[in-house]
Parts: sequence; structure tokens; C-alpha cells
Amino acid sequence: MPNLKNISLTTWIFLSLLLGFVAGLMLHYLVPECYFRDAVLIDGILAVCGKGFIRLMQMLVVPLVFCSLVCGMLNMGDIKKMGRIGGMTLVFYLFTTVCAVALALGVAGIINPGEGMTLKNMETVQMAQPAQVSIADTLLDIIPANPISSLANSVMLQVIFFAVLMGALLCHLKEKTQTIARLCQEGNTLMMSMTGVVMRLAPIGVFCLLTRTFAQTGVEGFGPLLKYSLTVLVALALQCFGVYGMLFSALTRMNFIRFVKRFLPVMGFAFSTATSNATIPMSIATLKRRVGVRENVSSFTIPFGATVNMDGTSIMQGVAVVFIAQVYGIDLSMGDFLTVIATATIASIGTAGVPSVGLVTLSMVLTSVGLPIEGIALIMGIDRLMDMSRTVVNITGDAVCTTIVAKMNSMLDREVFDATLAGDGEASGE
Ligand code: ASP
Repeated sequence: MPNLKNISLTTWIFLSLLLGFVAGLMLHYLVPECYFRDAVLIDGILAVCGKGFIRLMQMLVVPLVFCSLVCGMLNMGDIKKMGRIGGMTLVFYLFTTVCAVALALGVAGIINPGEGMTLKNMETVQMAQPAQVSIADTLLDIIPANPISSLANSVMLQVIFFAVLMGALLCHLKEKTQTIARLCQEGNTLMMSMTGVVMRLAPIGVFCLLTRTFAQTGVEGFGPLLKYSLTVLVALALQCFGVYGMLFSALTRMNFIRFVKRFLPVMGFAFSTATSNATIPMSIATLKRRVGVRENVSSFTIPFGATVNMDGTSIMQGVAVVFIAQVYGIDLSMGDFLTVIATATIASIGTAGVPSVGLVTLSMVLTSVGLPIEGIALIMGIDRLMDMSRTVVNITGDAVCTTIVAKMNSMLDREVFDATLAGDGEASGE
């Protein structure tokens, strides 16, 4: 009998994913509908434990991002360097998103997910008209009119804006604001340690969330949309292992597979929760303790990426455009494809890192090339599983760019990356 204490957090999370998948399908197909299954198990125990875990993670996001970002600026002590890191990150984020949409359009052009489908033979889900997101509002929304309200409502870009400004000024004012600087530093130590404690509960949270999802949806919903789902999954895999793998290996000269192994717990967590925002604390902690990325960099790039860099979401949007155009029998020109690349990249900035928002911003992409917004209803039924998968790519993209930027700015501890992992201690940072 293996000693359970020696099993690493990564292994636990993957066992939970597997067990959750099997348990969910068993509940869906083998246990008949009854009060105990639906109210007590699915909407009772599993919902409380699963959603409770997400809330625990969300609880950490604002204080951790705020404190670690202020500390990151303070420790860097060099505003020019921070500006360079910010600029490089933005370029990487935009570049990978453009690659993601182009890749999605290419893969969808080859597989033709909507070929042979017409509106008559498809089931649609009733949907409310999604709200339109304008570019001007997206940009203006970065500046907090009231920073306390931004913190209270977890408006990430505004929190980042305020924290960067505060960190830069604390750095400049030195002794005059020593107490506030120390408060942020101690707050950061506290929040990192709280993240370690919460992460230990990840396997239970992941198991409950996955069991609940599959108990509710089963797998038959995929049937008519199998080609669409496969197209999205193929493009997501190519982005993850092709685009990220190549960029990572070429620019860091480090082993990408090793990186993925170290980042796997966060990917498993993102898959079960479908929210980039809730993964922020776990990403920062994992990149620091298992990859060697200094918090000065990740405290800025990870929350920034979780808000503006959504490569997985852009891939879904690219495939959805081709799918909806084919179902409605509308031909898209080369100019339309270029428009889709531009608008999906902007939509990615406006997509919040919470479940299903990618479907809302899809309306902006569809409108840009004259496709009917009602087309979204065709893919809504299976979006939960697509959302889970694309969120994995969303957060992996942020972590890959962060590691590259850290390496290029000598802010990565290579010994940490090369060290052999002993087990949970390193994953949770305890
Ligand atoms: N769930 C995604 C995320 O949190 C956003 C989306 O595509 O809906 O990254």
C-alpha cells in the first residue's frame, strides 16, 4: 500500500479529474432521477464542496494580486524595467492571440465543422440577446473611478492599474511611506501562505466540480456538435503544444514538457472550474515554487493575462464563426477572416476570466462580419465543456508568456526549474 503522503498534488488532482469524470457519468446514466441524486448529491453536497472551493480561491484573488503587485513594483525598484516587462508581455499576449485565431480559422477551414448542417436539423437553445461590448468602454474601464469599489468588486484591470501606480510611488517615496510598504509586504507573505493552505483542498474541489458537471450533462449532448467540439479541441491542442511549445523552447531554451508537468495542477484546476480569475493565486504560487518565476513578474503578468489574454476563448470564437457561417450558408471572404482575427483579439481583452463570458463577447465578433448573433444559441448547449477546455489554454498562455518574459529579463531561478520535485510540499509551498 503506497504511503498517501508521498503522492504529489499533481497526481491527486489528476486522480480527482478521472474519478470525477467516472463518478459523474455513473450518476448520470446509472442512478435514476430522484430527490437523493438531484437535490442531496448534485445540488447539495457536490455543489457546496465544489463551489465552496472556487469561492475559497476567489477569496484570495484581490488581496493577493494587490499586495503582490505592489511588492513586485517595490522590489523591482526600477520603473523602466517594469515598463519593459509590461511592454513585452503585451506584445506576447497580442501575438499569441492573433496566432490562436488564425490557427482556429485554419483548422476550421480544413475540418469544416458546420458542413452538411442546416438550421432545420439543429436543436437551438433559447437565448437572451447578449450585451454589446464597445472598444471605447473596454479601454476606459481600465481606469478606476473609485479604487475601493474596484477592489470590492474584483475589477481586475482597475485593481492592476491602481496597484502598479501605488507600487511605483511607494518606490519613489521610500522612507516617507515605509509603513504602507511594509504592510503590503507582510500582506503578501500572508496571502501566499493562505494560497498554499487552500491549494491543499484542490483535489476535493476538483472531484466535486467534475462529478457535478458530468452528472448534469452526460456526454450525449455532444452528438450533433461532435465535429464542432473536435475542431475546437484540435485547435486548442495545437495552440498549447505547437505554438506555446515552440515559443517556449525557442525563447527560453528550457524543456517545455517539463514546464507542462510542473504547471499541470493549475491546468487541472482551470479545467474543473472554467475560470481564469480563480486560478490567479494558484498560478502565481506554482510558477514561483515549481518553475522559478519571480513573483515580481508573475504578480503583474498573471492577473493581467487572466483579464486580457484569452487565447483559448479566441480559438472557440474563430471556430464558432466558421461553424455558424457554414450552418447559415453564408460565405466569408478573406477580408472577413482578417476582421475576425482583429475583433476576436479585441474581444479577448474584453472577456472576463469567469465561466461562459466568451459566448457573450462572441456576439461582437459575429456582428463584425455580419453573421447572426442567434447563431450563438446553436453552440450554447455544449459550451460548458468547451469552456472548461479553453480556460486551460487561456491560463497556460499566460503562464508560458510569463515564463518567457521572466527568463528574458533574468527573473527566473533556473535551479528551481531544474530541481527534482519531492511532492506536495513544493506544490503548495509549505
Ligand atoms: N471561462 C473563460 C475563462 O475564465 C472565459 C470564457 O471563455 O468564457 O478564461
